[in-house]
Amino acid sequence: MTSDPSSITTRFAPSPTGRLHVGNIRTALHNWMLARVSGGEFVLRIDDTDAERSKEEYVEAIRADLAWLGLDPAREERQSARLDAYEAAFERLREAGRIYPAYETQQELELKRKVLLGRGKPPIYDRAALALSEEERAAKEAEGTRPHWRFKLDHEEAIAWEDGVRGAVKFDPAQLSDPVIRRADGSWLYMLPSTVDDIDMGITQVLRGEDHVSNTAVQIQMFTALGAEPPSFAHEALLVGKEGKLSKRLGSLGCDAFRERGIEPEAIVALLARLGTSLPVEPIADRAALLATFDLSTFGRAPAKFDEAELERVNTAIVHQMEYAAVKARLPEGMDEAGWHAVRPNVSTINEVGEWWRLVTGPIEAVAFDGETRGYLTQALSALEWGDDPWGALTSALKESTGRKGKALFLPLRQALTGMNHGPDMGELLPLIGEDEARARLAHAAQG
Ligand code: GLU
Repeated sequence: MTSDPSSITTRFAPSPTGRLHVGNIRTALHNWMLARVSGGEFVLRIDDTDAERSKEEYVEAIRADLAWLGLDPAREERQSARLDAYEAAFERLREAGRIYPAYETQQELELKRKVLLGRGKPPIYDRAALALSEEERAAKEAEGTRPHWRFKLDHEEAIAWEDGVRGAVKFDPAQLSDPVIRRADGSWLYMLPSTVDDIDMGITQVLRGEDHVSNTAVQIQMFTALGAEPPSFAHEALLVGKEGKLSKRLGSLGCDAFRERGIEPEAIVALLARLGTSLPVEPIADRAALLATFDLSTFGRAPAKFDEAELERVNTAIVHQMEYAAVKARLPEGMDEAGWHAVRPNVSTINEVGEWWRLVTGPIEAVAFDGETRGYLTQALSALEWGDDPWGALTSALKESTGRKGKALFLPLRQALTGMNHGPDMGELLPLIGEDEARARLAHAAQG
């Protein structure tokens, strides 16, 4: 797809303070899809202003996870490389009177909160710092108190937007606290850098979790204060466990765990693309097909329930569609296309292929047969003729000569030839085992 300037730009903005979990993956996917459907750009923005908690190993892991999922960003940006831009915006807002210093300690703020909550009031910051006179400020500074900085919300400017998922959203700015945007040590909190980046990077659509709804209200005023048109916003309902609760497990479930369990990236994508929407979750491995139905208006407001069993079902169905070329590199040594086709219906993950392939390469488990069955297997050995369809030929011949049918006809043969009571289709497996080996196995079983 080509990108044109009128099309949209989305971003995924993880903080590299840990591995991506399934909730982040979903946000990344939806942003990637939102850009793709319009031929727009999907940007990866590393939110690494927190120097202490951000780690390079997580940045690398985020890149690797996105690559594994096939969510390739058009470009990567890093907040730590953009501190000058934040400083400039900060100065601009300060000059415009939209930022003010505040001197309360954490404890003082906590106390104020408790008092308000105790009176049954919302814990909105009382703007005491804004009321300080020049002298009072100077006195604080003289005591050596360094201020943190708050963005002054404009209480006259009602905040409203048409949310891509939630519809019309309205906030009364007086019901919000002026957010702290910078710490006393000069480091940045999330709010301002994100807005500055969204402006500078030409982000046209911000799609993120509904935990950011009130941040959006604040940021809309920041966009305006910085002279920029706010982007379109959409807030998706959160991802919860299948019991309907935010679960710790989801927070730790990431690409490594999925990969280890043999979950294909296409299964994760197929599930997360549709989960929480009005569209059915289906094992669609073709991204173009998923993209064709991607539409924010199908997103529901109820939490999306992530069920690992559902992921496994989608995964199995996707594995069953996978072509040899796509899996070749991950198959056991020597396993060819016919081998993959024989084994594929019996596996739910590629990890399980080896177990079945061993039935072809051997050695197989020895099964103890009774005398009568050994006799039957001796007959099988002499009836075996190697043609196009040795299994079909063998079983028809034995059916006729012995009168056996069903389980009595098939099971001893399967057991003698594979050491198992069940498994891949014998018609496909027997040619792979090969004539010499098949004869050796039958002879061995017949001897007991
Ligand atoms: N780094 C922020 C987060 O992970 C980004 C939020 C946003 O999308 O603006 O929550």
